[in-house]
Amino acid sequence: MSQERRYSFEFFPAKTEAGHDKLIATARQLAGYNPDFFSCTYGAGGSTREGTLRTVLQLNGDVGVATAPHLSCVGDSKDDLRDLLNQYKAAGINRIVALRGDLPSGMGMASGELRYANELVEFIRAESGEQFHIEIAAYPEMHPQARSFEDDLANFVRKAQAGAHSAITQYFFNADSYFYFVERVRKLGVELPIVPGIMPITNYSKLARFSDACGAEIPRWIRKQLEAYGDDIASIQAYGEQVISEMCERLLQGGAPGLHFYTLNQAEPSLAIWNNLKLPR
Ligand code: FAD
Repeated sequence: MSQERRYSFEFFPAKTEAGHDKLIATARQLAGYNPDFFSCTYGAGGSTREGTLRTVLQLNGDVGVATAPHLSCVGDSKDDLRDLLNQYKAAGINRIVALRGDLPSGMGMASGELRYANELVEFIRAESGEQFHIEIAAYPEMHPQARSFEDDLANFVRKAQAGAHSAITQYFFNADSYFYFVERVRKLGVELPIVPGIMPITNYSKLARFSDACGAEIPRWIRKQLEAYGDDIASIQAYGEQVISEMCERLLQGGAPGLHFYTLNQAEPSLAIWNNLKLPR
């Protein structure tokens, strides 16, 4: 594996036993590509606490790839968070993705003691010193709730300076937004690696819904082409693979320090891009 660049695959905890078995099979396939780490999401408010813990321990242990749990602070008490950190420490986990999180609709207002991710980063550092490499989230196209791009940048800098080691971005389809974000962050004196989060395109209607919610813009030229394919899934996937592979190539040529794939628990869409890029195995 490249010394300078890092590659990782993200999963979400499955809701059923069949889904869990499929996740583990997918992870075993991806493990063959020798990624630097896996990560597993966490439902804000503790909604996937057991599922995330179980998945992380199995990926890290049985599958044998270092795995970073995501941890979010809205809706969890400090005691809940401390308890999870202690379980991860005991299992030899050494990387965490620290997030504020979004409470699922219907769970009411955030009731946690920590309101923003910068407070969670401080908390993890205070509780665990250097035990964990701390990843934070970055938003090249701005977090949807931020008042302005400048505000969001200032918040990102505060979060980085709270003790983070590196960042993973929200997905985007416009490489320039990534380069601009990195340039602005560097001008503010923050040097941590910012790894692009990559979302393979497999299903247009789901992607459009999700992108609206998380503030990722699908450029008109991509949207129009995807719409033109209607329900021709094979064409959507082939086109998506080509567009995303070309964007990744540009990102890596432009100095991105690696790629983080949002696998949605499927191996093939990420591997197609990996193979197109001829990434190391
Ligand atoms: P923060 O950095 O706290 O920012 C949230 C908002 O508040 C931003 O608008 C920011 O500008 C503003 N802000 C930040 N600090 C302050 C402050 N001190 N004062 C005022 N405003 C402030 N969600 C999950 O629920 N589970 C997951 O596992 C998960 N994994 C993710 C992984 C990645 C790589 C990414 C990019 C996102 C992930 N998310 C996950 C989504 C994320 O939780 C949401 O985007 C959430 O709304 C923001 O989380 P954050 O950590 O970026 O928050």
